Amino acid sequence: MSAGPWIDADAHRDDLPAPASQGGDATCGTVVIGGGISGLSIARQLAQQGEDVLLVESTRLGHGASGRNAGFLLADGARSFAHLARARGTDVATSVRALGLGTRAVVHDLAGRHERIGLVPCGSLRLAGDAREAAELEQTAAAVGTGMRYLPAAALPAPWRRNGRFHGGLEDPGDGLLDPLALVHAMRRELVVAGGRVVEETPVLEVHEDDDGVTCRTDSGVVRATRAVLATNAWTRRLAPAALRPVRAQMLEATVDPMPDWPQAMYANGGADYWRRRDAAHVLVGGQRAVGGEAEETDAATPGSAVQSALDALLAHLVGETARTRVTRRWAGIMAFTPDGLPLAGRAPDAARIYMLAGLNGQGMGWAPGLAVLLAEAMAGRSGVLPDCFAPSRFGDTSNGDSA
Ligand SMILES: Cc1cc2nc3c(=O)[nH]c(=O)nc-3n(C[C@H](O)[C@H](O)[C@H](O)COP(=O)(O)OP(=O)(O)OC[C@H]3O[C@@H](n4cnc5c(N)ncnc54)[C@H](O)[C@@H]3O)c2cc1C
Repeated sequence: MSAGPWIDADAHRDDLPAPASQGGDATCGTVVIGGGISGLSIARQLAQQGEDVLLVESTRLGHGASGRNAGFLLADGARSFAHLARARGTDVATSVRALGLGTRAVVHDLAGRHERIGLVPCGSLRLAGDAREAAELEQTAAAVGTGMRYLPAAALPAPWRRNGRFHGGLEDPGDGLLDPLALVHAMRRELVVAGGRVVEETPVLEVHEDDDGVTCRTDSGVVRATRAVLATNAWTRRLAPAALRPVRAQMLEATVDPMPDWPQAMYANGGADYWRRRDAAHVLVGGQRAVGGEAEETDAATPGSAVQSALDALLAHLVGETARTRVTRRWAGIMAFTPDGLPLAGRAPDAARIYMLAGLNGQGMGWAPGLAVLLAEAMAGRSGVLPDCFAPSRFGDTSNGDSA
């Protein structure tokens, strides 16, 4: 079964030596565990601050969620600014939006040096599935400003107006689309240029801290470090207590004739469905998780038939019954959700030398690079840069990952 179009493309090797595999014994300043967008973002950031960094990945860089996603670069997560401001206060909503804006800055900077990232600054259009969501999008546009535009149902672009399912929409012109695996590899390149090391195919089995540092036992040796960052998505709970649960997301890629005119990143029903053009011949469609029910609460990254059938129906609905479609790939990836929908960044609960950057709640491309900037500053000793709303310890006892 496909792992998605970005991974199959295998176009990301460059002139740098390939990462070593089976890492063996090693010592370093900071060991970063996990080679997705979270791990690469924090490892690159720390290495550029002059740290001696070793990144350890159990399979291949980007072969977790980071190489399997839709490549949407959205500043806001599934919960809109207005929703967060009402539920958690304006400070939290502002902190979350700042992650998105920080990420945009990092990614635009990288894309200027690494064309392969394929950043298309096309903006996004969020479509509201009911009147309550439409009201939140309208309030978000008013609160955030900066070019955001609320579109009432009658002003939506023709396909979504005719569709009749949507109650309004929100355009954010600063959002975009990219190739997520290329972003991971651009980060890896800059990490290595800054002196960082990378090993693949080296699962970390245990992490322990003592007064002098951290010991990571891998399947091929022992890594001794001054401190560790767990950037291991939903698998973090295998290494340390964390309020995370695995959630599977599924997608398909298809050719469509005639190709639909979707100029933006399309995100509907609070992020439950999303679709985009990938290139001149292919579209990507994802979501429909609710159809799968509890079966989607898994860390098995294989597509399931109920959600895939629902994605077929969604594709047909989006492009119209008269368009000819052919599904070219189906795949799944694993996300890590927290009880409050906000990420975990900072010291791990009850730890002095172990940090976390995980629980991106389906928003890692849009949040992790910006969050890594803050975490690296906090790890360098700057106080007050990481808002408390992201602290991994905010859920108290998380030994079973379920407390809220
Ligand atoms: C289908 C799908 C579509 C999505 N679409 C979008 C989107 O359009 N935009 C967006 O912003 N987000 C999207 N997301 C979410 C986004 O992909 C994730 O939030 C993000 O990739 C998480 O990055 P990560 O680095 O934390 O996790 P991962 O990319 O999963 O990386 C974690 C890494 O840790 C490694 N690892 C785990 N345990 C160990 C261990 N013990 N030792 C060593 N290594 C270990 C894993 O092998 C993995 O490579 C989507 C997700 C999915 C699945």
